[in-house]
Amino acid sequence: MKNLLLLILLFPVVAVAQTTIIKCGNLIDGKSERSLGKKAIVVEGKLIKEIIDWGKIPANSNQIDLSSKTVLPGLIDCHTHVLLQGDITAEEYDAQVLKESIPYRALRASVACKTALMNGFTTMRDVETEGAMYADVDVKKAINNGIIPGPRMYVATRGINTYGHYPIGNGEYSWDLHMPKGIQEVNGAEEARKAVREQISYGADWIKIYADRGYYKKSDGTFGSIPNFTPEEIAAVADETIKSRKMLAAHAMTPDGVLYALKAGARSIEHGTGINEECMDLLIAKGAFWVPTIMVVDYVSEGRAKLGSVSYLQMYQALQPQFKKAVQKGVKIAFGTDAGGFDWQKLPQSREFSFYVKYGMTPMQAIQSATTVAADLLDKRGQIGEISKGAFADIIAIEGDPLQKIEAMEKVIFVMKDGKVEKQ
Ligand SMILES: [Zn+2]
Repeated sequence: MKNLLLLILLFPVVAVAQTTIIKCGNLIDGKSERSLGKKAIVVEGKLIKEIIDWGKIPANSNQIDLSSKTVLPGLIDCHTHVLLQGDITAEEYDAQVLKESIPYRALRASVACKTALMNGFTTMRDVETEGAMYADVDVKKAINNGIIPGPRMYVATRGINTYGHYPIGNGEYSWDLHMPKGIQEVNGAEEARKAVREQISYGADWIKIYADRGYYKKSDGTFGSIPNFTPEEIAAVADETIKSRKMLAAHAMTPDGVLYALKAGARSIEHGTGINEECMDLLIAKGAFWVPTIMVVDYVSEGRAKLGSVSYLQMYQALQPQFKKAVQKGVKIAFGTDAGGFDWQKLPQSREFSFYVKYGMTPMQAIQSATTVAADLLDKRGQIGEISKGAFADIIAIEGDPLQKIEAMEKVIFVMKDGKVEKQ
């Protein structure tokens, strides 16, 4: 006994988190307005311990050499659908919802998650499963438990819309078939409130609603749509969501959808392709975010116009000056792609950056939309989307300088998530 005590005193057992030093050729930390040049990141366990100069790197330390690369925070995509693999046409959508079982779709989702992570996305807000019920909660769980590689996930489960307003439409197939729906359908305020409670009980981090439909161009060149919810219904959804300390994301394409969703308490407007200045002013007044998902609009609008639905193309053609105005006004624009609306394997999510720069952001603003601004939207500022002391060690590296050429964001050569190297 005496000997044992002596041993414990001589060799105290202390769990020491492994320390790794990442030598960065050029550091963009997600917060600063300029790149920080040559720096080194000290990673201890899952967290960033400190940022130091190259001269302070201890000899014989465990190092990762990215001294010729640009290093950035892991990226955040605020609008994805991992349970969907591209749906330009209704046929593509129906084929997945009708012919693929939810377990099969979850397996495909696991591939989408790996693709996203390898492309530098270490966090995603997945805004509904398109008929795959609560499978996003399982995907998130599998990632968190280390079963599959993937980003840290914030999930919205089923999405909510009112009766008859979301695919698969009642009239699209024989009326005696009861077609599955891509969302949870509600009628009236009580059902809306119940749907929110139900989704949260199954693990929803966010509530997603489809605020409008039936988009059209008015004679004065502006856009209109039909609000899907009654004032009582949307108030019930927002009240139950916010009271439960969750956040509300609203798909809304035109001012008719955007304004009432924001007034009800939506934290983010998804797409908003037919947005106007009144929407921008209310976004700012409410401290809400716009997630414009331009690449998916670019990807689907031509195809949908050919099939007779021209409103997407018309809104897309009017979007560029509106986007520029929103940037100038200081609207909080968070990066979102709608990946899953396009095939995960065909387009890299980082293509979205090029649209933001082409439409009026500086390259640094575009990067911040997927780092600190996105972290703000998720209410995770200080934990993700930045390379700073105490944040999670979610770190990526790319070839070249994205401030010179934003397309460099599409060539991710290194990914660390939670202090673990996922790609090198
Ligand atoms: Zn979407």
